[in-house]
Amino acid sequence: MQNGKIGVTTENIFPIIKKFLYSDHEIFLRELVSNAVDATQKLKTLASTGDYAGELGDLTVHVTADAAARTLTISDAGIGMTAEEVDRYINQIAFSGAEEFMSKYKNQNIIGHFGLGFYSAFMVADRVEIVTQSYREEAPTVVWSCGGTPEFTMTERAEKRSRGTDIILYLSEESAEFADQSRIRGMLRKYCRFLPIPIACGKVQEWKDGKYVDTERDDIVNDTDPLWTHNPADVTDEQYREFYRKLYPGSDDPLFWIHLNIDYPFHLTGILYFPKIHNNFEIQKNRIQLYSNQVYVTDSVEGIVPEFLTLLHGVIDSPDIPLNVSRSYLQSDGNVRKISGYITRKVADKLQELFNTARADFEGKWDDLKIFIEYGIVTDEKFAEKAEGFMLLKNTAGSYFTLAEYRDKVKENQTDRNGTVIYIYTDDAVGKHSFVRGAEEKGYDVLLMDGQLDNHFVSWYENKEKGCRFVRVDSDVAERLIDKETNMSMSLSSEQQDIMRPVFESQLPTDQKIFYNIAFEAMAPTDAPVTITQDEYMRRMKEMAAMS
Ligand code: ADP
Ligand code: MG
Repeated sequence: MQNGKIGVTTENIFPIIKKFLYSDHEIFLRELVSNAVDATQKLKTLASTGDYAGELGDLTVHVTADAAARTLTISDAGIGMTAEEVDRYINQIAFSGAEEFMSKYKNQNIIGHFGLGFYSAFMVADRVEIVTQSYREEAPTVVWSCGGTPEFTMTERAEKRSRGTDIILYLSEESAEFADQSRIRGMLRKYCRFLPIPIACGKVQEWKDGKYVDTERDDIVNDTDPLWTHNPADVTDEQYREFYRKLYPGSDDPLFWIHLNIDYPFHLTGILYFPKIHNNFEIQKNRIQLYSNQVYVTDSVEGIVPEFLTLLHGVIDSPDIPLNVSRSYLQSDGNVRKISGYITRKVADKLQELFNTARADFEGKWDDLKIFIEYGIVTDEKFAEKAEGFMLLKNTAGSYFTLAEYRDKVKENQTDRNGTVIYIYTDDAVGKHSFVRGAEEKGYDVLLMDGQLDNHFVSWYENKEKGCRFVRVDSDVAERLIDKETNMSMSLSSEQQDIMRPVFESQLPTDQKIFYNIAFEAMAPTDAPVTITQDEYMRRMKEMAAMS
C-alpha cells in the first residue's frame, strides 16, 4: 500500500534513540501501555458522546511476552488507527530532525526518565510492527512495520482484526529479558500500577495436580481506581490506611494524611502521608511517587515538591507538571514552583486545622510529627510562617505549648535583667535528671528538646524571636540559669577547692577542659555538693569547633 520515509526532513533518529535512551530502557513499556490506555479512553469518550455506537466489550489491555519468539505484544481494544492516521501520528513523528531532537533532549538522563512516546520501542526492538483496526468499521486493518531505519512499510491486511491495536516488538538480542513474562509483570506493577484501564499480563495461575497451571482468568496487574482519584468526602480512614499499606508494605500505620484535591489554578490530586519514623532510624527521603494522569513518572521528587515534603510518603498526580522536559527545567519552571508553594500551604493549613479541631490527638502524635514540622520550618520560610500556629514545645512534665503559650507561661519567672526570656531545656531528661530537678525546685520550667532537629529549630527560633534565648539546664547551676549575677556561697574553702579541682578535672575529656566549669556550691542542684556545668555559649562553641 505504501512504503516511505519517516518524517519530512528526517535524519536517521534511530541511533540517537538507542544511544540516548540507554539509561532507562524500561520506560518503553510505560509509553506503549499508556498509548494503549489512551486509545481505550478515547473510545470510551466517543461511546459516551454517541459518536461510537458499537459494543465496547472487554477493554482490557493485554501484554504478552513470548520468550521463544523473543517478542512482546501490547494489545488494546481502543479506537485503532486508519492508514491515514498511522501516517499522521506515527510516520510524521513529533520531531522533525536529529538536531532538534538533540537540542530538546540534551541531558540523556532525562530522556530515560521521561520517555518520548511510541518510538521509545526502538530502544529494545529491532523491528516494530503495528496491526491496527480503526473503530470506523469500513476502514481496513493496517499493518505498519519498521526495522529501526527511517524506512517503513504499510499494508492493508485482508484478514480483519477486531477493533484496536497490537504493537509487536521483535526484541533485539540485548533486550531479550523483556520477553520474560515475570520481568514484564514486575515492570507493569511499577509503571502501570494505577492506570485507569485493566492491564492483563498472562493468566492467574492455580496449583493443580502437583504443578501451577493457567486458569481462564486474566492476571490483572493494576488498580484502575486508585484512592487519590476519589472524592475525599467519600473515603474512610481505613481506606487511607489500606492504600498506605499497599504503597509501603510492612510499614507502620501513618500518623495521618492529607488528601490533596486542587482544581484551580492547576490540577493536582494526591495523598500525602506523614509516616511514623522510629527513633534513630535513618530518614528515607524521596518516597513520594509522582504521577501524571495515573501514569507513573518518578519517585525522585527533589526540586519538584518542597524540600521538607521529600520526607513524606504518598502520591502526587498532576497533568500540569510538564513531564517530558528535563529535571533542571522542572525545577526552574514557574508553574512547578507555584505548585510547590501551593502544596506547602495546603499541608500547613491541614496541620493547623488538625491542631485547632483535635488538639489532644495532635499532641498525642506530636513526638513523631515534630521532625517533619521542624524540617519544614528550618528549610522553608513560607511554611515556617504558617507553622508558628501549630509548632509545639514540650516540657519535662509532658505538657505541650504553642510558641506563644510558652512565652506567656515563662516570661514572668524567667526573664533576666536585660528583659530576655530564658528558655531552659534539656536534651536528656534522664541523664540530666538532677539538673532538671534543681531547676524545677527553683520554680523554672524545663523544655525537653531531644529531637534530631531541635538544635536547628533552636537557632532558627532565637534568630527570629528577638528577646528570647535558650540555655541548657546543665549550662549553669539552677540559681544562675536566669541571672548570672546571683551570689552563691561555696561549701568548700578556696584551699579545699584547689585540692579537689584536679580530681574532678581529671574526669573531664582532656582536650575539652576549657568548655566546662566546676563549682563547689552550697546550693547546687538538689543536694549535690559539686557541679560540673557547661556554659551554653562554650557548648555551642564546642559544637561549632567539632563541625568544622
Ligand atoms: P503521544 O502519546 O504523546 O501522543 P506517542 O508517540 O506515544 O505520542 O504516540 C503518537 C500517537 O500515535 C498517539 O497520539 C496516537 O494518536 C497514536 N497511537 C499510538 N499508539 C496507539 C494505539 N495503541 N492506539 C491508537 N493510537 C495510537
Ligand atoms: Mg504516548
